[in-house]
Amino acid sequence: MSNPILVTRSSMPSLNEYVDEIKDIFDSHWMTNMGVKHQELEKKLKELLEVEGVQLMVNGHMALELGIQAMNLTGEVITTPYTFASTTHAIVRNGLEPVFCDIDPKTYTMDVSKIEELITDRTSAIMPVHVYGNICNIEEIERIARKYSLKVIYDAAHTFGETYKGKSIAQFGDASMFSFHATKAFNTIEGGAVAYHNSEYGLDLARLKNFGIRNEELVDYVGSNAKMNEFSAAMGLCNLRHLDEEIEKRHKVYDAYRSGLAGVEGLHIFEVQKDVTSNYAYFPIVVDENVYGHTRNELKNILEEHGIFSRKYFYPLTSAFDCYHGKYDVNKTPIALHYSKRVLALPMYSDLALEDVSKICNIIIEFAN
Ligand SMILES: *Cc1c(COP(=O)(O)O)cnc(C)c1O
Repeated sequence: MSNPILVTRSSMPSLNEYVDEIKDIFDSHWMTNMGVKHQELEKKLKELLEVEGVQLMVNGHMALELGIQAMNLTGEVITTPYTFASTTHAIVRNGLEPVFCDIDPKTYTMDVSKIEELITDRTSAIMPVHVYGNICNIEEIERIARKYSLKVIYDAAHTFGETYKGKSIAQFGDASMFSFHATKAFNTIEGGAVAYHNSEYGLDLARLKNFGIRNEELVDYVGSNAKMNEFSAAMGLCNLRHLDEEIEKRHKVYDAYRSGLAGVEGLHIFEVQKDVTSNYAYFPIVVDENVYGHTRNELKNILEEHGIFSRKYFYPLTSAFDCYHGKYDVNKTPIALHYSKRVLALPMYSDLALEDVSKICNIIIEFAN
């Protein structure tokens, strides 16, 4: 069997480019605590994301946890179970109660027509997730949030670099969280950020990520430690130079999959939404076993027999996790439950050879019916 094809492969700059970038860290011995790389990356991201402020974090999850904490929320947060563990855990670890809203069958983001019926006098925020490259119904979420005075924090881990109607995706809501994990379209090895418009909120975040230290003698906040180190920031600076190229290459992979799988009955492929520039971070397909002739799990297994590794993303729903056993009823989000059993994310990364894409497509086509 030839080399296995994994579901993702981290993008890296050339070794020389990275070595050049980290030379001054070796000169200064300043390896963390908001050094020059951190400052430079923060500034570049502010420009790219078109926001007032960006706080870099050690990872996307801590960005979410602290992003929520800095909002001083109470009670319930309306969110989606169709997401990565991080979203739900971040709410629960803040002592808040997640209230799960079902998803829209077209975009797999929160079904905005079902939000209002979940609002109670304990609701303090909405935490929607932009899923794959699909963005939420931003206008409707904004309308509801304004009507009920709720905060909105987007889990935008999947949508770094995307725009909606010509505006950066980070401009919407009170804040957006991005993940720069090694597997994301843009990475800092591990890393993440909160993007926002309100400078006071930014001040709180800056203290929260550094033990609540305001200055040498004043610690007025029970903070955590979530600072991004200089080597990660340097990786980010390198990868940022190649972001357009990275997205362009992913776009080619996306197109190759789309034409390769066109006409296969029983498979659903996501189209890029109107008014959205996508980052092509993922390539999920949805298997309708009654038409395709095999279940998602059977397709995953057959791919694996050929050395191709896909991922059930997202499965299980976060509300079905063992750590939440008995707490939430997955049948209250039937559409999310339905698709979590049928979705399969195929290998997707910028260096994925187009021949490999056609090999994957052929296996999927031959397996049909
Ligand atoms: C990756 C991801 C996170 C967490 O980010 P990390 O940087 O891995 O901590 C949160 N939410 C979603 C939807 C993600 O895909």
